[in-house]
Amino acid sequence: MITTLDGQPFHQPLGKVVCIGRNYAAHAAELNNPIPTEPLLFIKPATSVVEFSAAPLRLPQGEGDVHYEAEMALLIGEPLSHVKPSEALTGIAGVGMALDLTLRDRQSKLKEKGHPWEIAKGWDGACPLTGFIAADRVASWDDLNFSLTINDQLRQQGHTAQMLTPVEHLLAYASQWFTLMPGDVILTGTPEGVGTLHSGDQLKLTLEDWLSESAVVG
Ligand code: ZN
Repeated sequence: MITTLDGQPFHQPLGKVVCIGRNYAAHAAELNNPIPTEPLLFIKPATSVVEFSAAPLRLPQGEGDVHYEAEMALLIGEPLSHVKPSEALTGIAGVGMALDLTLRDRQSKLKEKGHPWEIAKGWDGACPLTGFIAADRVASWDDLNFSLTINDQLRQQGHTAQMLTPVEHLLAYASQWFTLMPGDVILTGTPEGVGTLHSGDQLKLTLEDWLSESAVVG
């Protein structure tokens, strides 16, 4: 998939998607998860990415609940490795929205056994992404509102000031373990309100003031 930055094709193919779990306290609580003492990272492969609004979203069948998690997404524009928080923001090329789709039943079983979650989070199509807008238009990373509506009902609403690990600290932490490359994407965590998707659901992801895209579940 080729992603867009301000409506133009981005010059790098998409790479890995680095995600943070439990970055909003109210979401950790709704799934009865403790708040981690350090950021909880996992990776979705590039093959999990699909364009959010291009075609009906295809979900795995017979796998139980598929949960939506609306998250602000960052597109990396410059390599970041072992950076400090104060150096991290210059690496962001764009900001957009994503769904961290999750096979929740399968994830719960894997978690019970202490096994990795990859299949529950990394299947083909598990990361619908909107287009991105240029990051240099964002004045304040801790003052962004975003939301997800399903069938015109507000289901999730987040404000980046609620993040337990804010953007610059998240990038700095991730870069200690995984060099972030141009074309990589960071998902910044989901606020409360996650739930099950159903065939025919009409979804709308909004990053306030910047973008709004619609999709349907196939
Ligand atoms: Zn998530």
